[in-house]
Amino acid sequence: MSTPTIGVLALQGDVREHLAALATADALARPVRRPEELAEVDGLVIPGGESTTMSKLAVIFGMLEPLRERVRAGMPVYGTCAGMIMLADKILDGREDQETLGGIDMIVRRNAFGRQNESFEATIDMAGVEGGPVEGVFIRAPWVESVGGAVEVLATHDGHTVAVRQGNVLATSFHPELTGDHRVHALFVEMVRAGRS
Ligand code: GLN
Repeated sequence: MSTPTIGVLALQGDVREHLAALATADALARPVRRPEELAEVDGLVIPGGESTTMSKLAVIFGMLEPLRERVRAGMPVYGTCAGMIMLADKILDGREDQETLGGIDMIVRRNAFGRQNESFEATIDMAGVEGGPVEGVFIRAPWVESVGGAVEVLATHDGHTVAVRQGNVLATSFHPELTGDHRVHALFVEMVRAGRS
């Protein structure tokens, strides 16, 4: 099957690292800032960064509703860290005016790991990723406080949920794009391929 085109939401965050990881995982990767660019991609990655800033810029760039519509319509989306927060139906410890796109029936707590430990790495066993555990890089990372019945928990760390999937929407608290191991991106590229057929 032909190579899928996958966008990386480029309002703020570690866009370049995701573009590189997607290219390694056999996708055509391109930054997405505007609704016209969003319309051209088969799937979308929402990077790590700062979810409050991303939310504000999504409003300013007129991207909030177009993004919500595509997620609702079933476009495959993968969010890392701040991106996970953007995909939560509900967040805790967010800013009062903070918007999310939703997409996963979960409650995510912002900066949940950050209070104890600003940044750390841990070995994570993730369902759906073959070939042994992945190295999880956590940077002021959120965790998933609770999930609805349709959500699959793919990984936990210290008893906290750190990777989930609901249908076409995938999210991790950690940042596979910052490691040389692109198996999580490969899993997402497969989701996008499946969504096109
Ligand atoms: N704490 C950040 C937020 O609230 C997320 C950090 C990250 O993406 N590395 O958006």
